[in-house]
Amino acid sequence: MGTQGIAAAEAKQQVEESLNMLTSTQIVVKEALAKLGYQEEMYELLKEPLRMLTVRIPVRMDDGHVEIFTGYRAQHNDAVGPTKGGVRFHPEVDENEVKALSMWMSLKCGIVDLPYGGGKGGIICDPRNMSLGELERLSRGYVRAISQIVGPTKDIPAPDVYTNSQIMAWMMDEYSRLREYDSPGFITGKPLVLGGSHGREKATAEGVVICIEEAAKKRGIEIKGARVVIQGFGNAGSFLAKFLHDAGAKVIGISDANGALHDPDGLDIDYLLDRRDSFGTVTNLFDHTITNQELLELDCDILVPAAISNQITVKNADNIKASIVVEAANGPTTFEATKILSERGILLVPDVLASSGGVTVSYFEWVQNNQGYYWSEEEVSEKLRKVIVKSFNNVYDTAVARKLNMRLAAYMVGVRKMSEASRFRGWV
Ligand code: GLU
Repeated sequence: MGTQGIAAAEAKQQVEESLNMLTSTQIVVKEALAKLGYQEEMYELLKEPLRMLTVRIPVRMDDGHVEIFTGYRAQHNDAVGPTKGGVRFHPEVDENEVKALSMWMSLKCGIVDLPYGGGKGGIICDPRNMSLGELERLSRGYVRAISQIVGPTKDIPAPDVYTNSQIMAWMMDEYSRLREYDSPGFITGKPLVLGGSHGREKATAEGVVICIEEAAKKRGIEIKGARVVIQGFGNAGSFLAKFLHDAGAKVIGISDANGALHDPDGLDIDYLLDRRDSFGTVTNLFDHTITNQELLELDCDILVPAAISNQITVKNADNIKASIVVEAANGPTTFEATKILSERGILLVPDVLASSGGVTVSYFEWVQNNQGYYWSEEEVSEKLRKVIVKSFNNVYDTAVARKLNMRLAAYMVGVRKMSEASRFRGWV
């Protein structure tokens, strides 16, 4: 196969994967609604986003030519309140992925009980090959393109894969200029000086750590001395490694897109953090690496997939040795693999629960923006802990009481509020 053939095959596989992601989300939503006693109509309402906007964004590139980028914004369900969710910049963004991710945002907001529905956006681009100026023009162009359907009481974007507080700042500035008033509540994940919240950057990782602590308690595992493997060393993975290392855990494996590092005695996380680049790459500095697949199958107590989707599948689910798997990435375990892990008695903390710390502190940021009154880091951290501990136990208790796996239990907790709100509004 020539390079073009390989590229076409990869694109086809990507389309299949995202369709798969949407259909497996729909299957679990359907099962969760049926278990809650809802009729088919509720599933028909919730199986796809209420709104999906596709935009084309012209951007003048540094060399003078104009490139047209494609972007999306999906709003899953706004019965509970405005929709909320990140915007990702990635070459493999596609419509079905954005749809599925907007549904996951609805579920996350339901699980942690925020007054929001789910939304998600994405732009097909590769920020690793773009200058800051090009990224700024793309970010501003995206806001102009979607401005009619977003806003502090309509749909509130946030960071996601390859977007950060600088991009949020440009987007907020563009929105405020369009509306002609300062609108910090339009977007979350902003820099502190523009109304960002203390603790937002580390919130997703902090939420994962709280879930790990709660899961470890259920399994009688002490964090101090626990052997942890983390797949991914990006924003979430690196924060996690640091938190767990500082809490006394032994981080015995980490990875990036190129490979993985393993040391049964524990890796020097501070050194690795110091050497990683802004995309989380660090393994290229070492000679002795293992593959990402070998990493997942390492003997450990806690496995945290914090990189990309579809990592634990029917092919390796039987070889996972961890007794707790906490999904810090979106969709790292396939539908079939979830069943295998739970049959094997592994405690799986699903993505929609484990990664809900980010949107929780985004909610705190939005509340602070609306009040114009700002909280200390301790206050944010304390409030986040309360929310995550309560949500974890709510899902865990549902799973135990109804003899379900944690994913299905989380989906049941997650869809309940939007279903009730949709019914009260008379939609179904
Ligand atoms: N993109 C993050 C997520 O998927 C955060 C969303 C938000 O803060 O609104 O949960």
